[in-house]
Amino acid sequence: MTTQKNCTAFSDSELQTFIDVRRQIHAAPELGAETPHTAELVAARLEQWGYHVHVGIGGHGLVGVLKKGQGSRCIGLRADMDALPMQEKNPFAHASKIAGRMHACGHDGHTAILLAAAYRLANSDFNGTLNLIFQPDEEGLCGAKAMIDDGLFQRFPCDAIFALHNMPGAPVGSVVVQAGPTMASSERVSLTIGGKGGHGAMPELAVDPVPVVASLINAIQTIKSRNLGPEEYAVISIGMLQAGSVYNIIPDEASMLISVRTDTPQTQQKINQRLEQIVRGHEQSFGVRIDLQITQLAPALINDPEEAQRVRASLAPLFEPGQIHHRGPKVMGTEDFAWMLGEVPGCYFMLGNGEGEFHGCSVHNPHYDFNDALIGLGAKCWIALVEGFLV
Ligand SMILES: [Zn+2]
Ligand SMILES: [Zn+2]
Repeated sequence: MTTQKNCTAFSDSELQTFIDVRRQIHAAPELGAETPHTAELVAARLEQWGYHVHVGIGGHGLVGVLKKGQGSRCIGLRADMDALPMQEKNPFAHASKIAGRMHACGHDGHTAILLAAAYRLANSDFNGTLNLIFQPDEEGLCGAKAMIDDGLFQRFPCDAIFALHNMPGAPVGSVVVQAGPTMASSERVSLTIGGKGGHGAMPELAVDPVPVVASLINAIQTIKSRNLGPEEYAVISIGMLQAGSVYNIIPDEASMLISVRTDTPQTQQKINQRLEQIVRGHEQSFGVRIDLQITQLAPALINDPEEAQRVRASLAPLFEPGQIHHRGPKVMGTEDFAWMLGEVPGCYFMLGNGEGEFHGCSVHNPHYDFNDALIGLGAKCWIALVEGFLV
Protein backbone atom coordinates (compact mmCIF):
# COMPACT_ATOMS: atom_id res chain seq x y z
CA MET A 1 0.00 0.00 0.00
CA THR A 2 1.21 3.50 -0.75
CA THR A 3 0.04 6.59 1.04
CA GLN A 4 1.05 9.02 -1.67
CA LYS A 5 -1.56 11.46 -2.90
CA ASN A 6 -2.59 11.49 -6.51
CA CYS A 7 -0.83 14.37 -8.25
CA THR A 8 0.53 14.61 -11.80
CA ALA A 9 -0.52 10.98 -12.10
CA PHE A 10 1.18 8.65 -14.54
CA SER A 11 -0.97 6.14 -16.40
CA ASP A 12 -0.35 2.47 -15.68
CA SER A 13 1.23 1.98 -19.09
CA GLU A 14 3.53 4.99 -18.63
CA LEU A 15 4.63 3.64 -15.26
CA GLN A 16 5.16 0.19 -16.74
CA THR A 17 7.47 1.72 -19.36
CA PHE A 18 9.73 3.10 -16.64
CA ILE A 19 9.52 -0.05 -14.52
CA ASP A 20 10.73 -1.91 -17.62
CA VAL A 21 13.57 0.59 -18.09
CA ARG A 22 14.56 0.15 -14.43
CA ARG A 23 14.58 -3.62 -14.75
CA GLN A 24 16.52 -3.45 -18.00
CA ILE A 25 19.23 -1.40 -16.23
CA HIS A 26 19.07 -3.74 -13.23
CA ALA A 27 19.70 -6.79 -15.41
CA ALA A 28 22.78 -5.26 -17.06
CA PRO A 29 24.70 -3.48 -14.28
CA GLU A 30 27.79 -1.41 -15.05
CA LEU A 31 30.51 -0.59 -12.52
CA GLY A 32 32.30 2.53 -11.40
CA ALA A 33 33.27 4.98 -14.12
CA GLU A 34 32.48 2.44 -16.86
CA THR A 35 28.78 3.04 -17.51
CA PRO A 36 28.70 3.48 -21.32
CA HIS A 37 25.56 1.41 -22.04
CA THR A 38 23.49 2.92 -19.23
CA ALA A 39 24.56 6.40 -20.37
CA GLU A 40 23.63 5.49 -23.94
CA LEU A 41 20.19 4.28 -22.87
CA VAL A 42 19.59 7.50 -20.90
CA ALA A 43 20.85 9.76 -23.70
CA ALA A 44 18.64 8.05 -26.30
CA ARG A 45 15.50 8.53 -24.20
CA LEU A 46 16.26 12.18 -23.40
CA GLU A 47 16.95 13.00 -27.05
CA GLN A 48 13.70 11.38 -28.05
CA TRP A 49 11.82 13.78 -25.72
CA GLY A 50 13.57 16.91 -27.03
CA TYR A 51 16.41 17.39 -24.51
CA HIS A 52 19.79 18.67 -25.67
CA VAL A 53 22.06 15.91 -24.49
CA HIS A 54 25.73 16.49 -23.70
CA VAL A 55 27.67 13.25 -23.23
CA GLY A 56 31.22 12.42 -22.16
CA ILE A 57 31.38 14.78 -19.19
CA GLY A 58 34.01 13.46 -16.79
CA GLY A 59 33.93 10.09 -18.55
CA HIS A 60 30.44 8.65 -19.08
CA GLY A 61 28.61 11.45 -17.25
CA LEU A 62 25.91 13.23 -19.22
CA VAL A 63 23.60 16.21 -18.91
CA GLY A 64 20.20 16.59 -20.57
CA VAL A 65 19.18 20.23 -20.92
CA LEU A 66 15.72 21.61 -21.56
CA LYS A 67 15.07 25.34 -21.70
CA LYS A 68 11.58 26.85 -21.65
CA GLY A 69 10.28 30.41 -21.54
CA GLN A 70 12.44 33.46 -20.89
CA GLY A 71 13.25 32.64 -17.25
CA SER A 72 16.87 32.89 -16.15
CA ARG A 73 16.67 30.42 -13.27
CA CYS A 74 18.45 27.07 -13.63
CA ILE A 75 17.93 23.89 -11.64
CA GLY A 76 20.04 20.70 -11.58
CA LEU A 77 18.71 17.24 -10.71
CA ARG A 78 21.18 14.40 -10.30
CA ALA A 79 20.81 10.62 -10.65
CA ASP A 80 23.56 8.02 -10.24
CA MET A 81 23.96 5.16 -12.74
CA ASP A 82 26.56 2.74 -11.31
CA ALA A 83 26.20 -0.68 -9.68
CA LEU A 84 28.34 -2.66 -7.21
CA PRO A 85 30.94 -5.43 -7.64
CA MET A 86 28.95 -8.17 -5.88
CA GLN A 87 26.96 -11.27 -6.77
CA GLU A 88 23.17 -10.87 -6.80
CA LYS A 89 21.25 -13.63 -4.98
CA ASN A 90 17.74 -12.70 -6.11
CA PRO A 91 15.71 -15.27 -8.03
CA PHE A 92 13.54 -12.95 -10.15
CA ALA A 93 13.66 -12.54 -13.92
CA HIS A 94 15.27 -9.09 -13.93
CA ALA A 95 18.15 -10.14 -11.64
CA SER A 96 21.64 -9.27 -12.87
CA LYS A 97 22.73 -11.20 -15.94
CA ILE A 98 26.38 -10.38 -15.23
CA ALA A 99 28.22 -12.43 -12.62
CA GLY A 100 29.81 -10.34 -9.88
CA ARG A 101 27.86 -7.18 -10.66
CA MET A 102 24.66 -6.00 -9.05
CA HIS A 103 22.49 -2.90 -8.69
CA ALA A 104 22.41 -3.29 -4.92
CA CYS A 105 22.05 0.40 -4.06
CA GLY A 106 19.04 1.26 -6.25
CA HIS A 107 20.87 3.52 -8.69
CA ASP A 108 18.92 1.71 -11.43
CA GLY A 109 15.80 3.08 -9.72
CA HIS A 110 17.19 6.61 -9.31
CA THR A 111 17.97 6.68 -13.05
CA ALA A 112 14.47 5.40 -13.94
CA ILE A 113 12.87 8.00 -11.63
CA LEU A 114 14.74 10.85 -13.27
CA LEU A 115 13.87 9.52 -16.73
CA ALA A 116 10.17 9.32 -15.80
CA ALA A 117 10.34 12.92 -14.56
CA ALA A 118 12.18 13.98 -17.74
CA TYR A 119 9.47 12.42 -19.89
CA ARG A 120 6.71 14.33 -18.09
CA LEU A 121 8.67 17.59 -17.76
CA ALA A 122 9.25 17.67 -21.52
CA ASN A 123 5.56 18.65 -21.75
CA SER A 124 5.47 20.89 -18.69
CA ASP A 125 5.18 24.69 -18.75
CA PHE A 126 8.14 25.59 -16.57
CA ASN A 127 10.07 28.79 -17.14
CA GLY A 128 13.88 28.47 -17.09
CA THR A 129 16.56 25.84 -17.59
CA LEU A 130 16.36 22.25 -16.44
CA ASN A 131 19.67 20.36 -16.21
CA LEU A 132 19.37 16.61 -15.68
CA ILE A 133 22.71 15.28 -14.47
CA PHE A 134 23.42 11.53 -14.77
CA GLN A 135 26.68 10.56 -13.10
CA PRO A 136 28.78 7.39 -13.09
CA ASP A 137 30.88 6.13 -10.18
CA GLU A 138 28.93 7.30 -7.16
CA GLU A 139 30.05 4.21 -5.25
CA GLY A 140 33.71 4.92 -5.97
CA LEU A 141 33.16 8.54 -4.86
CA CYS A 142 34.85 9.77 -8.04
CA GLY A 143 32.06 10.37 -10.58
CA ALA A 144 30.76 13.70 -9.28
CA LYS A 145 34.28 15.11 -8.93
CA ALA A 146 35.18 13.96 -12.45
CA MET A 147 32.14 15.79 -13.86
CA ILE A 148 32.89 18.94 -11.82
CA ASP A 149 36.54 18.89 -12.92
CA ASP A 150 35.31 18.60 -16.51
CA GLY A 151 33.44 21.91 -16.15
CA LEU A 152 29.98 20.63 -15.17
CA PHE A 153 28.81 23.81 -13.45
CA GLN A 154 30.61 26.20 -15.82
CA ARG A 155 28.95 24.58 -18.81
CA PHE A 156 25.60 23.99 -17.10
CA PRO A 157 25.22 26.65 -14.39
CA CYS A 158 22.68 25.78 -11.69
CA ASP A 159 21.14 28.03 -9.03
CA ALA A 160 20.39 24.95 -6.96
CA ILE A 161 20.91 21.20 -7.27
CA PHE A 162 19.03 18.24 -5.87
CA ALA A 163 19.40 14.46 -5.59
CA LEU A 164 17.47 11.64 -3.95
CA HIS A 165 18.25 8.18 -2.61
CA ASN A 166 15.99 5.31 -1.65
CA MET A 167 15.92 4.30 2.01
CA PRO A 168 15.09 0.64 2.80
CA GLY A 169 13.31 0.08 6.11
CA ALA A 170 11.23 3.27 5.83
CA PRO A 171 7.68 2.99 4.41
CA VAL A 172 6.89 3.99 0.84
CA GLY A 173 5.20 7.37 1.12
CA SER A 174 7.69 8.70 3.68
CA VAL A 175 10.60 11.02 2.98
CA VAL A 176 13.47 12.47 5.00
CA VAL A 177 14.47 16.03 4.09
CA GLN A 178 17.14 17.13 6.52
CA ALA A 179 18.79 20.55 6.75
CA GLY A 180 22.52 20.71 7.40
CA PRO A 181 24.84 17.67 7.85
CA THR A 182 23.22 14.61 6.27
CA MET A 183 25.93 12.20 5.09
CA ALA A 184 29.49 11.75 6.32
CA SER A 185 32.84 12.73 4.89
CA SER A 186 35.25 9.93 4.11
CA GLU A 187 39.04 9.98 4.39
CA ARG A 188 41.66 7.32 3.93
CA VAL A 189 44.56 7.83 6.35
CA SER A 190 47.77 5.98 5.65
CA LEU A 191 50.61 5.74 8.19
CA THR A 192 54.02 4.31 7.39
CA ILE A 193 56.26 3.92 10.44
CA GLY A 194 59.94 3.75 9.56
CA GLY A 195 62.18 2.16 12.21
CA LYS A 196 65.40 0.18 11.96
CA GLY A 197 65.20 -3.56 11.39
CA GLY A 198 67.35 -6.08 13.17
CA HIS A 199 67.66 -9.46 14.87
CA GLY A 200 64.77 -10.36 17.16
CA ALA A 201 67.31 -11.29 19.87
CA MET A 202 68.96 -7.85 19.80
CA PRO A 203 66.22 -5.23 20.06
CA GLU A 204 68.66 -2.79 21.63
CA LEU A 205 70.36 -2.42 18.23
CA ALA A 206 67.10 -1.86 16.34
CA VAL A 207 64.28 0.67 16.32
CA ASP A 208 61.18 -1.51 16.42
CA PRO A 209 58.11 -0.02 14.71
CA VAL A 210 55.75 -2.66 16.21
CA PRO A 211 55.34 -1.10 19.68
CA VAL A 212 54.80 2.23 17.92
CA VAL A 213 51.85 0.71 16.07
CA ALA A 214 50.46 -0.61 19.36
CA SER A 215 50.77 2.78 20.99
CA LEU A 216 49.27 4.56 17.95
CA ILE A 217 46.21 2.30 18.09
CA ASN A 218 45.52 3.34 21.67
CA ALA A 219 46.29 7.01 21.11
CA ILE A 220 44.08 7.23 18.00
CA GLN A 221 41.14 5.71 19.91
CA THR A 222 41.27 8.64 22.32
CA ILE A 223 40.51 11.18 19.58
CA LYS A 224 36.85 10.26 19.50
CA SER A 225 36.49 9.46 23.21
CA ARG A 226 38.54 12.36 24.64
CA ASN A 227 38.78 15.14 22.06
CA LEU A 228 35.29 15.31 20.52
CA GLY A 229 32.17 16.64 22.18
CA PRO A 230 28.81 14.83 22.23
CA GLU A 231 27.53 16.71 19.16
CA GLU A 232 30.62 15.97 17.08
CA TYR A 233 29.94 12.80 15.11
CA ALA A 234 32.86 10.73 13.88
CA VAL A 235 33.92 7.17 13.16
CA ILE A 236 37.59 6.21 13.21
CA SER A 237 38.27 2.62 12.18
CA ILE A 238 41.71 1.07 11.83
CA GLY A 239 41.20 -1.39 9.01
CA MET A 240 44.69 -2.59 8.17
CA LEU A 241 47.95 -3.23 10.04
CA GLN A 242 51.08 -4.61 8.49
CA ALA A 243 54.49 -5.36 10.01
CA GLY A 244 57.16 -8.02 9.68
CA SER A 245 57.31 -11.48 8.16
CA VAL A 246 58.71 -13.96 10.68
CA TYR A 247 59.00 -14.32 14.46
CA ASN A 248 62.68 -13.46 14.90
CA ILE A 249 63.19 -10.39 12.71
CA ILE A 250 62.42 -6.91 13.92
CA PRO A 251 60.82 -5.28 10.87
CA ASP A 252 62.19 -2.16 9.28
CA GLU A 253 58.78 -0.72 8.65
CA ALA A 254 55.13 -1.01 9.68
CA SER A 255 52.00 0.47 8.15
CA MET A 256 48.40 1.23 9.05
CA LEU A 257 45.31 2.21 7.05
CA ILE A 258 42.53 4.08 8.80
CA SER A 259 39.04 5.16 7.75
CA VAL A 260 37.86 8.50 9.16
CA ARG A 261 34.28 9.71 8.81
CA THR A 262 32.75 12.89 10.18
CA ASP A 263 29.57 14.85 9.61
CA THR A 264 31.07 18.35 9.39
CA PRO A 265 34.28 19.84 7.94
CA GLN A 266 35.04 21.31 11.39
CA THR A 267 35.13 17.88 13.06
CA GLN A 268 37.15 16.53 10.15
CA GLN A 269 39.71 19.30 10.58
CA LYS A 270 39.92 18.70 14.33
CA ILE A 271 40.57 14.97 13.84
CA ASN A 272 43.21 15.61 11.20
CA GLN A 273 44.99 18.02 13.56
CA ARG A 274 44.94 15.47 16.38
CA LEU A 275 46.26 12.75 14.04
CA GLU A 276 49.12 15.04 13.07
CA GLN A 277 49.92 15.83 16.73
CA ILE A 278 49.78 12.17 17.80
CA VAL A 279 51.99 11.09 14.90
CA ARG A 280 54.62 13.78 15.52
CA GLY A 281 54.58 12.98 19.26
CA HIS A 282 55.23 9.32 18.51
CA GLU A 283 58.12 10.22 16.22
CA GLN A 284 59.75 12.06 19.11
CA SER A 285 59.08 9.58 21.85
CA PHE A 286 59.93 6.41 19.89
CA GLY A 287 62.64 7.78 17.59
CA VAL A 288 60.91 6.69 14.37
CA ARG A 289 59.89 8.50 11.16
CA ILE A 290 56.21 8.41 10.37
CA ASP A 291 54.81 9.29 6.97
CA LEU A 292 51.19 10.47 7.34
CA GLN A 293 49.01 10.69 4.21
CA ILE A 294 45.42 11.87 4.43
CA THR A 295 43.30 11.41 1.30
CA GLN A 296 39.89 13.01 1.18
CA LEU A 297 37.54 10.64 -0.67
CA ALA A 298 34.47 12.85 -0.26
CA PRO A 299 33.47 15.75 1.97
CA ALA A 300 30.51 15.70 4.37
CA LEU A 301 27.19 16.22 2.63
CA ILE A 302 25.61 19.41 3.97
CA ASN A 303 22.09 20.33 2.83
CA ASP A 304 21.38 24.03 2.46
CA PRO A 305 18.63 24.85 5.01
CA GLU A 306 16.69 27.08 2.57
CA GLU A 307 16.79 24.48 -0.20
CA ALA A 308 15.75 21.76 2.28
CA GLN A 309 12.77 23.92 3.21
CA ARG A 310 11.99 24.41 -0.49
CA VAL A 311 11.99 20.63 -1.01
CA ARG A 312 9.63 20.11 1.95
CA ALA A 313 7.24 22.77 0.66
CA SER A 314 7.28 21.38 -2.91
CA LEU A 315 6.74 17.81 -1.72
CA ALA A 316 3.97 18.63 0.78
CA PRO A 317 1.08 17.98 -1.67
CA LEU A 318 2.50 14.53 -2.47
CA PHE A 319 2.78 13.12 1.06
CA GLU A 320 0.36 12.52 3.90
CA PRO A 321 0.83 14.86 6.88
CA GLY A 322 3.60 13.66 9.16
CA GLN A 323 5.35 11.70 6.41
CA ILE A 324 7.88 14.44 5.59
CA HIS A 325 10.50 13.95 8.28
CA HIS A 326 13.01 16.66 9.17
CA ARG A 327 15.49 14.17 10.63
CA GLY A 328 16.41 10.64 9.63
CA PRO A 329 18.49 8.01 11.37
CA LYS A 330 22.10 9.15 11.84
CA VAL A 331 24.19 7.42 9.19
CA MET A 332 27.94 7.72 8.65
CA GLY A 333 27.83 6.51 5.05
CA THR A 334 29.24 8.77 2.35
CA GLU A 335 27.55 10.15 -0.76
CA ASP A 336 29.39 11.44 -3.81
CA PHE A 337 26.78 14.19 -4.38
CA ALA A 338 28.53 16.00 -1.48
CA TRP A 339 31.15 17.20 -3.99
CA MET A 340 28.41 18.86 -6.05
CA LEU A 341 26.86 20.44 -2.94
CA GLY A 342 30.28 21.90 -2.24
CA GLU A 343 29.90 23.88 -5.49
CA VAL A 344 26.20 24.75 -5.61
CA PRO A 345 23.63 24.93 -2.78
CA GLY A 346 20.99 22.25 -2.77
CA CYS A 347 19.47 19.31 -0.97
CA TYR A 348 19.74 15.51 -0.96
CA PHE A 349 16.68 13.72 0.37
CA MET A 350 15.67 10.11 1.03
CA LEU A 351 12.52 8.28 -0.03
CA GLY A 352 11.32 5.25 1.94
CA ASN A 353 11.91 2.09 -0.14
CA GLY A 354 9.47 0.02 1.96
CA GLU A 355 9.62 -2.35 4.89
CA GLY A 356 9.73 -6.08 5.51
CA GLU A 357 12.12 -8.76 4.39
CA PHE A 358 12.22 -7.69 0.76
CA HIS A 359 11.93 -3.92 0.39
CA GLY A 360 13.34 -3.36 3.85
CA CYS A 361 16.50 -5.27 2.89
CA SER A 362 19.57 -3.08 3.28
CA VAL A 363 21.35 -1.60 0.29
CA HIS A 364 24.64 -3.36 -0.61
CA ASN A 365 23.02 -6.70 0.37
CA PRO A 366 22.84 -9.51 -2.25
CA HIS A 367 19.03 -9.76 -1.70
CA TYR A 368 18.30 -6.04 -2.09
CA ASP A 369 16.05 -4.70 -4.85
CA PHE A 370 14.82 -1.21 -5.59
CA ASN A 371 11.06 -0.85 -5.08
CA ASP A 372 9.34 -0.01 -8.38
CA ALA A 373 6.53 1.68 -6.41
CA LEU A 374 8.95 4.59 -5.94
CA ILE A 375 9.28 5.39 -9.63
CA GLY A 376 5.99 7.29 -9.92
CA LEU A 377 6.35 8.94 -6.52
CA GLY A 378 9.98 9.92 -7.07
CA ALA A 379 9.19 11.36 -10.50
CA LYS A 380 6.35 13.40 -8.99
CA CYS A 381 8.80 14.76 -6.40
CA TRP A 382 11.11 15.95 -9.18
CA ILE A 383 8.24 17.43 -11.19
CA ALA A 384 6.86 19.33 -8.17
CA LEU A 385 10.31 20.67 -7.35
CA VAL A 386 11.05 21.81 -10.91
CA GLU A 387 7.63 23.39 -11.44
CA GLY A 388 7.99 25.23 -8.10
CA PHE A 389 11.54 26.39 -8.89
CA LEU A 390 11.30 27.38 -12.53
CA VAL A 391 8.31 29.76 -12.40
ZN1 LIG B 1 25.71 2.42 -2.36
ZN1 LIG C 1 23.57 4.57 -3.46
